[in-house]
Amino acid sequence: MKIILLGAPFSGKGTLARNITKDFNIVQISTGDLFRENIKNGTEVGLLAKKYMDKGELVPDSVTISMLQNRIKEDDCKNGFILDGFPRSIAQAKALQKITDIDAVIQLDVPLDEIKRRCVGRRICSKCGEIYNTSSYDKTTCAKCGAPLFQRDDDNLETITLRLEVYEKTTAPLINFYADRLKVVKGSEKGPEETYKPVKTFLKGLMR
Ligand code: ADP
Ligand code: ZN
Repeated sequence: MKIILLGAPFSGKGTLARNITKDFNIVQISTGDLFRENIKNGTEVGLLAKKYMDKGELVPDSVTISMLQNRIKEDDCKNGFILDGFPRSIAQAKALQKITDIDAVIQLDVPLDEIKRRCVGRRICSKCGEIYNTSSYDKTTCAKCGAPLFQRDDDNLETITLRLEVYEKTTAPLINFYADRLKVVKGSEKGPEETYKPVKTFLKGLMR
């Protein structure tokens, strides 16, 4: 099963993807995480990506697409994968079409005022990757593994404004592009578990 997760920054793609990987035997591929790993390891891709990420701009397609293409060739992708943060433009979607077929696209629909409320409060576990928000969790260490939480470099108001603009202008047109296999899920009212329920039902239906 090959799935794409669409949604604005802070819509909850990462959290939803983590839930899906637990129940279905597929891996999560986040291009943002891949870039952050490259930055941490000081690779050439990392050095280049950082310049764009710090500004809230998209990393150039030449780099992003080949990184993604290599990642999905790996062994753990045999059963399928969830793409979180890719494609982010029509050009990337067209490139993906040439590489592989996609079974379903899930769009996380979250109102803008909710996104703005979430953005500055996001904290991430440095060890297991669990995602928290200071509005509902005010500790500085992870409830699951005890490691310290951190805030991403690009989670500041200036960058966030631009990332939201890039989403509206460049990424949101994918909702129409994938209209024939789209499942829209409200990602706001009742928290991550409630958001996941209809997704789980939908994916189970797909597997039949
Ligand atoms: P969020 O969804 O919260 O904005 P991500 O971790 O998905 O965060 O992405 C962080 C940054 O990484 C983006 O702002 C962009 O600079 C870069 N990035 C991630 N995925 C892509 C992509 N598919 N194409 C271009 N740049 C990307
Ligand atoms: Zn943790």
